[in-house]
Amino acid sequence: MKALAYDGQVRAYAARTTETVGEAQRRHQTWPTASAALGRALTAGVMMGAMLKGDETLTIKIDGGGPIGTILVDSNAKGEVRGYVTNPHVHFELNEHGKLDVARAVGKNGMLTVVKDLGLRDFFTGQVPIISGELGEDFTYYFASSEQVPSSVGVGVLVNPDHTILAAGGFILQLMPGTEEKTIDQIERRLQTIPPVSRMVESGLTPEEILEELLGKGNVKVLETLPVAFVCRCSRERIADALISLGAQEIQDIIDKEGYAEASCHFCNETYHFTKEELKQLKQLADAKKA
Ligand SMILES: [Zn+2]
Repeated sequence: MKALAYDGQVRAYAARTTETVGEAQRRHQTWPTASAALGRALTAGVMMGAMLKGDETLTIKIDGGGPIGTILVDSNAKGEVRGYVTNPHVHFELNEHGKLDVARAVGKNGMLTVVKDLGLRDFFTGQVPIISGELGEDFTYYFASSEQVPSSVGVGVLVNPDHTILAAGGFILQLMPGTEEKTIDQIERRLQTIPPVSRMVESGLTPEEILEELLGKGNVKVLETLPVAFVCRCSRERIADALISLGAQEIQDIIDKEGYAEASCHFCNETYHFTKEELKQLKQLADAKKA
């Protein structure tokens, strides 16, 4: 949900991503701490995607030097998001706040990078050092430092004992230039007293109700809502094209050594299998392309 508040002084986004993060967890078989890290990044990513227009896309790369490795998230303006982590099997004891220890999994020694593809070879790249590893604070810092927009980002994921996702969601509040001090004070006070956003989602609050908790009832003017989902753009054709681009000799080597090919998409973990006969066809296509 996209909204305005306080007569347009505040731009606000909220998302419920329980299903989206659940799909990521099923596809990548992430353990709880890794699920929380990936889920927080996916949730921030889908809301940042909603800030784009038309066919613009966004890629977030988080490299904190921790055991989870790299978190990569891709999103667009249509509410579609996909993502993965290098090491999905990462889990630790809960931290001193009784929460999944995302900072320990992500690490604090590295960078958060955002690349926006704005079309016609127009790219925006923003990069900030990771300051907390909890990701909400890191995205808050990214907006303030790289985009010069004072913001507050909250993202959270709750995981069931069987590793499925109980609740996931988030919000982004952004102050427009000239926001009054008293508005900022009111929002800051509310941010200190509200429950974690994952708990608000768990208790059944809608995105509009979450924004009302954050900004006060009567202050929120809804602009637009859109569905969000884990969607990958990979396809059998794309993987086949990648094989063809290896060249005829390489394909022949695969035929000789393995007799088949199997390739998985990093983003969604879908596996594509090619038989010997199919590889021979791809080899012919590679030959034709060369000629
Ligand atoms: Zn895929």
